[in-house]
Amino acid sequence: MKSLTILGSTGSIGTSTLALVDACPDAFDVKVLVAGSNTALLAEQALKYRPDIVGLASTADAAALREALAGSGIEVAEGEDACTELARRPVDVVIAGIVGLAGLPGVLAALACGQTVALANKESLVSAGALAMATARRHGARLLPVDSEHSAIFQCWLGWSGHQKDVTAPSANGSVDRICLTASGGPFRMRDLDSFSMITPEEAVKHPNWSMGQKISVDSATMMNKGLEVIEAAWLFDLSPQSIEVLIHPQVAIHGLVYFHDGSVIGQLGTADMKTPISYALAWPDRLDWCPEPLDLLSMGRLEFMPVDPDRYPCFSLARQALAEGGVMPAVLNAANEVAVAAFLARQIGFTDIAAVVGHCLDHVPEGDVDSLEAVIAVDGRARDLAKTRCGAISQAASTKPLSPAGGV
Ligand code: NAD
Ligand code: MG
Repeated sequence: MKSLTILGSTGSIGTSTLALVDACPDAFDVKVLVAGSNTALLAEQALKYRPDIVGLASTADAAALREALAGSGIEVAEGEDACTELARRPVDVVIAGIVGLAGLPGVLAALACGQTVALANKESLVSAGALAMATARRHGARLLPVDSEHSAIFQCWLGWSGHQKDVTAPSANGSVDRICLTASGGPFRMRDLDSFSMITPEEAVKHPNWSMGQKISVDSATMMNKGLEVIEAAWLFDLSPQSIEVLIHPQVAIHGLVYFHDGSVIGQLGTADMKTPISYALAWPDRLDWCPEPLDLLSMGRLEFMPVDPDRYPCFSLARQALAEGGVMPAVLNAANEVAVAAFLARQIGFTDIAAVVGHCLDHVPEGDVDSLEAVIAVDGRARDLAKTRCGAISQAASTKPLSPAGGV
């Protein structure tokens, strides 16, 4: 039986993880649950899975959580710092499923205690890749990918090299030429480019293949998600930007490929269900039989592949640019994107403004470095201020723009 801490238990990754616990109740013991603000669901999860303690980042909702858990014997921790501390409690696997840079303190805390971290929270590696990898190395911690494409690469690599223990540095062997991460292309792969500025939040969060949280769904629509994943892969697998290729593959049957120098290519296939990569990270080095729906290649008929169109997906190019330039750039990219996506979801800016805001922030990079958690948070904060100002200016300009004669928007 493996003991688990689930950071972000009420989200898409968190609930998928708990669905695996339901499917294999004898395999896991949930010790800690942490969420941001969804008190009712967190309380329900706590009463069902009986962790030792639950953490709630929002102090405003803690009283309601305490009341809901009164007499249960389950402890309650409140506030961001208390939630971070919970990541230090020794368990077999810490699932990092918080969305955005808010997940970084918990990831670093778990790594600094030498824990095994199943990482879904890609923003941590984007903004603080060097710091996170160095922390893992220094403390003998292990990072296991949860992102489906990274899990695919990890599985292809391990399939070839055996169950190597140092899973954070697989590129040490020179037999790998490059890797390929696949992308569905999101909901707007076929949409007329001229109508992109009219895209609504409702349309953007409707992903054709995956069911996910709101932020990553918008990131998939802009393909910033794939850009973040290229940066994530560079850190996880110690690869140069040039050796990470991306192909659009609308059927999302193949999640990732590893090209070897001898001409062999190993790919990993599976259904578009995050429970498969999560289960691999939970069970590694074994596999969990959680009765998944089988992959039905016959009904898929054919598998297609196409290059990424930079006009359709400018955010993807911005992420590549940030990775190539390095330093604080990926942290600035991530912060600007988080602000822009939130502003888009709040209808303050349009869909195409997301790339404009991120591009603006990359052109006006704030001072700083990314050597420590404090430094990353400081750069992140400055980039957020810059992005918020830009979003405000865009929103202001849109509200003062006269209506076109035809009465359009
Ligand atoms: P989500 O919005 O569904 O859930 C986010 C979770 O984080 C919630 O439990 C929320 O309460 C919690 N949270 C937010 N702010 C917090 C804070 N300050 N402190 C503590 N908890 C906080 O998001 P998601 O789709 O589950 O994505 C989570 C992470 O996993 C993201 O980094 C995303 O990129 C990554 N990821 C998700 C998927 C997917 O299928 N959903 C796939 C690959 C990677
Ligand atoms: Mg992914």
